[in-house]
Amino acid sequence: MGGAPQVEPFFRLGFSGYHSRYIDVALTLPASDAGYRLSLPAWIPGSYLVRDFARHLVGKQAADEAGVPVRIDPVDQQTWDVAPSETPVEISYRVYCADFSVRSAHVDSSHVVFNGTSVFLRVHGAEQARHEVVIEGDDLPEPWRVATTLPEMAIDERGFGDYAAADYEALIDHPVEIADFVERQFTAGGVLHRMVFTNALPDTDFDRIAADVARICETEIELFDGAPFDEYLFLVATDENGFGGLEHRDSTALIFPRSHLPSVTSEGVSKEYQRFLSLCAHEYFHNWNVKRIRPSAFAGLPLDRPAHTRLLWVFEGFTSYFDDWLVRHAGLIDEDQYLAALEETLNRAMRGKGWSRQTLEESSFYAWTRFYQQDANAVNAIVSYYTRGAVVALMLDLMLRERGASLMDVMRRLWEEHGEHPLPEGERVERLIEDYMGESMQAFFDQALRSTASLDVAGLLARFGVRMTPRGEVEGPDTGIRVDERDERAATVKLVFEDRPGAAAGLAVGDRVIAIDGFAVSGREWSSRLLRCRAGDRLHLHVFREARLLEMTLELGAECRNQHHLARAPGDGKAESRLTDWLAVHDG
Ligand SMILES: [Zn+2]
Repeated sequence: MGGAPQVEPFFRLGFSGYHSRYIDVALTLPASDAGYRLSLPAWIPGSYLVRDFARHLVGKQAADEAGVPVRIDPVDQQTWDVAPSETPVEISYRVYCADFSVRSAHVDSSHVVFNGTSVFLRVHGAEQARHEVVIEGDDLPEPWRVATTLPEMAIDERGFGDYAAADYEALIDHPVEIADFVERQFTAGGVLHRMVFTNALPDTDFDRIAADVARICETEIELFDGAPFDEYLFLVATDENGFGGLEHRDSTALIFPRSHLPSVTSEGVSKEYQRFLSLCAHEYFHNWNVKRIRPSAFAGLPLDRPAHTRLLWVFEGFTSYFDDWLVRHAGLIDEDQYLAALEETLNRAMRGKGWSRQTLEESSFYAWTRFYQQDANAVNAIVSYYTRGAVVALMLDLMLRERGASLMDVMRRLWEEHGEHPLPEGERVERLIEDYMGESMQAFFDQALRSTASLDVAGLLARFGVRMTPRGEVEGPDTGIRVDERDERAATVKLVFEDRPGAAAGLAVGDRVIAIDGFAVSGREWSSRLLRCRAGDRLHLHVFREARLLEMTLELGAECRNQHHLARAPGDGKAESRLTDWLAVHDG
């Protein structure tokens, strides 16, 4: 089964059910004597987890022009066959939108936001055809407007009306926000950029944010010698404490805590605002690295099942390294603020034992079942292709810089050579880097990507005038556990690090420690109680596990110094000038 190539799917979206979190969808297809096969993606590009979006479809039905029902038969949980019809057929359904994240769809009394992967059925055989969408605003509150980069055909002043995408892949790569949002515009690299803020605090300094993000965009466009799009949109949904970002071809969807955005009275770049700027720089860098320089594993819309790549250390690791660096390179933070962010990345990569259990290539390959499905033991079992990938990128950048090149040169080469042709699995990026290094890097890559050996970052950083000093993650003797510090009734164990005191005592994630040496303890006072103790002290614990009271002895260890502090320590003139070049502000 399959539609003829001239089939152009036509969607209508209505919002009469928005109070119940529904988007109403009607898909019209021409008469067909073969019928149609339809499906919804199982996952959304950029987020490597099978989400089974089809489970949110409600009341699917099909009818011909006269309103006579047309059969729909399920093929699997996300695929259906529609019977032949002599007249055009309309397939209608509702999508329940209750996930406030950047990955699916959310509808409530303050906004509508959706990704096409949650809403638009794929018409098999018609993927390359033009897809038309009418977004109807009649049932939504008057001040609400539409923000999307879907190409517009005929829309009203609020943005409702007719849109069209060149093909199905384009259709699902333009998220749509509908709300009474605040909008700012700027031009970067000759391209119009819009930022749309939903549910933000009214005293947010939108002008300042737009000006700062404009600097980041200009810097990235200049580094890549031009923007690969004609317009760009930042969709910023604010929330109490959510955090996330997802890259798209001409836009990005972000979720960020509203109170962490700068207010009109605030000055300087706070740690929280720096995090927002990094998030913007990160998603924007994906315009090149992953949206256009793509792994071949993601080519051809393999959206019905997981697609595996070993290269996420390039796509997410490099991007995670460049995001903080770009905020510095754009001149928005100073060298010390940059080093503080780098310190955090390094420390996250070196926490726990996960890095010694899984290689970077494995972390990438198993992203679907490991990184995206982390359990309480993840800190002991897996490594992040974001953080260890960023450490590898840092090392490569510094090594390349010692030879007069940089990792950005490699990115530009990748852009030239793979901006249109997908990047094959294998060692293409490794060989490209060797080109710039002028020597074999096999030993380094085997160690960094295909082994669980530790990486000597300290030596490299020292040659760039940065000293890496070991420190503990928390002050005081080591418990080898982390507890929920907001808990006022007990110290509930959140993490147990293998081969450290808590694990040796028999503590497990979820345990509620209620007393130390016979005196009640809570998560709130946990750290102050521990600061009164010394390494070697044996603490008598009362612990609730499920409904049973247990007693344990926790013998405190010496401070676990697996974290580091980074500080500028220019040794000689050479190191100092290397540091200055590495962390220079872009002079575009
Ligand atoms: Zn990313």
